[in-house]
Amino acid sequence: MKRDKKVVVIIGAGISGLTTAYLLHKKNYQVVVLEKNEIVGGSIETISENGFLFDRGPNSALETTPVIGFLIKELNLKEELLYANKKANKRYILRNNVLHALPMSPPAFLKTRLFSLKAKLRLFAEPFIGRSKDGYYQSIAEFVTRRLGKEFLDYAINPFVAGVYAGKPEELSVKSAFPKLYALEEKYGGLIIGTIRSIRERKKRAEVAKQSAKMLSFKEGMQTLPNAIADALGQRVITSAIVNEVKKEESGYKVVFDLKGSLKSIQCDAVISTVPAYSANKLFVDFDQGISKHFNEIYYPPVLVYYLIYSKDSIKRPLDGFGFLIPSLEKKSFLGAIWSSVIFPGRVDDDKAAFTIFIGGSRNPEFVDESREELLERVRNEFEELMKIQAPPIHKSERFWDKAIPQYNLGYIEHERFFDEFEQKNPGLFLSGNYRGGISVGDCIKNSELVADKVLQTIR
Ligand SMILES: Cc1cc2nc3c(=O)[nH]c(=O)nc-3n(C[C@H](O)[C@H](O)[C@H](O)COP(=O)(O)OP(=O)(O)OC[C@H]3O[C@@H](n4cnc5c(N)ncnc54)[C@H](O)[C@@H]3O)c2cc1C
Repeated sequence: MKRDKKVVVIIGAGISGLTTAYLLHKKNYQVVVLEKNEIVGGSIETISENGFLFDRGPNSALETTPVIGFLIKELNLKEELLYANKKANKRYILRNNVLHALPMSPPAFLKTRLFSLKAKLRLFAEPFIGRSKDGYYQSIAEFVTRRLGKEFLDYAINPFVAGVYAGKPEELSVKSAFPKLYALEEKYGGLIIGTIRSIRERKKRAEVAKQSAKMLSFKEGMQTLPNAIADALGQRVITSAIVNEVKKEESGYKVVFDLKGSLKSIQCDAVISTVPAYSANKLFVDFDQGISKHFNEIYYPPVLVYYLIYSKDSIKRPLDGFGFLIPSLEKKSFLGAIWSSVIFPGRVDDDKAAFTIFIGGSRNPEFVDESREELLERVRNEFEELMKIQAPPIHKSERFWDKAIPQYNLGYIEHERFFDEFEQKNPGLFLSGNYRGGISVGDCIKNSELVADKVLQTIR
């Protein structure tokens, strides 16, 4: 019997799965989203605790793609939308136990004490340094040391990488993890000349760069977006449905899943997997034994997110920024902290301040073996000292992510190439999610549009 609409099964109801499903639904495909958990959102998780809103995964997203605005309009979320406070443009980095504002202009750069005079003068050499070897097998640490010097690696890139990937610059591939940065050298021959030229080119194309994209969230937190997409999709989203296997049929695929203890299956024309690599590793063994190795090699370090609320009058330093990041050389027990209620005022009453602290990542995955209580006490003490806080928190909460963020490490390109070939060999099967095409919420949404376009081109 000929079906009216093509059936597409999307595995996983994180932001990647939900966005792709919504875009395909709008294009008249019959979509079914299968989600393991009882709730949707995946890494996007907001809870309300004692009247406080805690974003336990991403705290915000950058509006780097028009698809975000499209979703907000379609889902009637305009009233819910919050843009970040202008104060959040200011970011701090710790050096010698002092928080230094990250310089955002050439005069501020000349004045800052975050970098030594020697490091500043070293920048003049950057335009004369030639192109490097293959960026896929070159770490961001190696790349930055060669182009900008060791001090920039230690006090700019090392904390930045911890803030974005919870990662280690010695392990991340510059071309896989920071393709735009590497492209400045590849295309223009250097970072300074490349930045100037690409700003001009972007202006011509009216594009938004990550550093100038607006930062957003919602009045009820980040989970508003996945919840709203899932509501719009209604019964097309099935929760508590654990996908065990995808089987290749004569025409199309069969997705086998466990729904609250009973085994079910769906025949379909296309399958989009958006689950993390460590979950995808079992799904395709029926017809490809080689793929599991690639999924298994993508490392997701553990991260502990610690949420603290203080009375404002106990904090003796100005709250005038996004938060701060900590270079490894400073030897603290955490990676950095976001000043959540500065970024999105209204998160707590005016007389209180909320902070989100990140612990672990690739820099210190061993934290999982420590006594949690002792670790959190040490982190709290270090944080309170840096913030000049003179009274204990009035609320504490934590969320442990056993496998937090995929690392696009050296050699990642081999996985990427295998995944591309796998899709070519298996028409109608698409691999998506944050281990491909970028880890940020904005990148996941941008990538979801690309995947939806691929489906449109191949499954008609
Ligand atoms: C602590 C933390 C902080 C972050 N901070 C930021 C930030 O500030 N800004 C930013 O832009 N990004 C941030 N990120 C990254 C960003 O949140 C994620 O990369 C993004 O949300 C991933 O979305 P996804 O849909 O690709 O994957 P996921 O969110 O992982 O979704 C995958 C879904 O698949 C489901 N699933 C797994 N296995 C199965 C199965 N067998 N069957 C059915 N379903 C299954 C899972 O339950 C999950 O719901 C952060 C991430 C973390 C963990």
